[in-house]
Amino acid sequence: MPLRPTDSSALLVDGKLVPGSSGVFDIVNPATEEVIGQAADADATDMDSAIQAARRAFDTTSWSRDHALRARCLRQLRDALQGHIDELRDITIAEVGAPRFLTSGPQLEGPIADLGYFADLAESYEWERDLGVAAPMGIKTHRRVLKEAVGVVGAITPWNFPHQINFAKIGPALAAGNTVVLKPAPDTPWCAALVGKVIAEETDIPAGVVNIVTSSDHALGAQLSTDPRIDLVSFTGSTATGKAVMAAASESLKKVFLELGGKSAFVVLDDADINGACSIAAFTVATHAGQGCAITTRLLVPREKYDEAIAATKAGLAGLAAGDPDAPGTICGPLISAKQRDRVESYLKLAVEEGGTIECGGDRPSDKERGFFVSPTLISGVGNDARVAQEEIFGPVIVIIPHDGDEDAIRIANDSPYGLSGSVWGADPDRVEHVVAGIRTGTLSVNGGVWYSADAPFGGYKQSGIGREMGVAGFEEYLETKLVAAPAQ
Ligand code: NAD
Repeated sequence: MPLRPTDSSALLVDGKLVPGSSGVFDIVNPATEEVIGQAADADATDMDSAIQAARRAFDTTSWSRDHALRARCLRQLRDALQGHIDELRDITIAEVGAPRFLTSGPQLEGPIADLGYFADLAESYEWERDLGVAAPMGIKTHRRVLKEAVGVVGAITPWNFPHQINFAKIGPALAAGNTVVLKPAPDTPWCAALVGKVIAEETDIPAGVVNIVTSSDHALGAQLSTDPRIDLVSFTGSTATGKAVMAAASESLKKVFLELGGKSAFVVLDDADINGACSIAAFTVATHAGQGCAITTRLLVPREKYDEAIAATKAGLAGLAAGDPDAPGTICGPLISAKQRDRVESYLKLAVEEGGTIECGGDRPSDKERGFFVSPTLISGVGNDARVAQEEIFGPVIVIIPHDGDEDAIRIANDSPYGLSGSVWGADPDRVEHVVAGIRTGTLSVNGGVWYSADAPFGGYKQSGIGREMGVAGFEEYLETKLVAAPAQ
């Protein structure tokens, strides 16, 4: 059955596709500003029903103990989604403004395939570990460690890579035996609602195990953070909202897992190929208009090569003009909304007020009358203490900052409230390794290495988050540990 967008205007609550109690809200294509359809608009009562359903499914069914069923259902979901891949691709491009080339990777195909990795983990994970016999306080005791699901997971996600982030939560949460209430961002409800439709119509995932609640109201995320029936909040979004989630969750002392913002450094050492490194830095920040938490947005280059690096980065950005995300060659699409474009433009104004120079970009592309586009931009002439170097802009904007050698580069890279990602470029492996060891961050690429894959843990140091997504570490975020001690024979 085709996944027409109009069909997707439903919530998934307790196994049923139902309308939102607040009616519907518009979905806008960020590349054209056209309303492309509506999504179901849930209110607090819908969220309450979804939480109730997830709680019931966890407490009264064998889902959390039936590892084989969960593995089968996850593979079934993966296969069903792959059967709709072309429709999902079109909708992802239209709703997210995601460049088409990214849908072959982390914007769509990658995260769907990753469900298979989590299905495999459900089967292969060591759910019980034998600690052997000991005699604490003189009593001979046999101890076992059982790994169990945490319970009901409230998943709150942003709009920039909706499939990747939705599946990086649903996949491990279900594989580990939890039930889920997913609240996607108001900007990208279809990406989630279509998954709800596939789950309801094409899988054996039991009613209540996955609930998907689209809404124009951010308060439904807050509801997930406070409701005592939720055991774990798995949140991806801005650091400011993450702090609000953590504070709200503390009332019922629920577990929180936070994937937050970043302002990652791209460190070029003095023995690196400056042209090669700067052209990759340019490509990275232009990709999806810089709307990636892990995108490197501070380019740290040797002081003596500052001008050369500016020229190389400008040359790289010149070939990456913002354009139609549906076109196969587009790297830099639109920003998600007028609000986000306003935010990015306010930082471009701030850069000049802070004494910076806009080396290229800094404006809207002249050939675009509609769409939330901003040209890829390079800012020079500011220090790392400038607000444009400290705060997350979340647009196609990179700040170039000079460093005075390896130690200085490490110091500047670490002079940030964030610690999510980063990149190090250099020819001498020992020096590169020294810089890698010095930077306080959750993910580092060396000389262009790619860190994204299902088995690779991803997450942040400092104010970039708590916990890890993906990999075994990401799976274990969704587990509790139970120690069982019985008299030994
Ligand atoms: P956001 O924080 O505004 O919203 C994220 C989600 O939180 C949305 O679903 C929103 O409805 C919900 N929300 C809003 N207020 C809430 C509240 N008080 N309580 C609970 N939920 C609430 O973020 P965004 O603008 O959608 O996304 C961009 C941000 O996400 C950037 O800061 C980016 O760095 C971050 N991000 C981080 C990662 C990562 O893995 N570290 C990945 C992608 C995006």
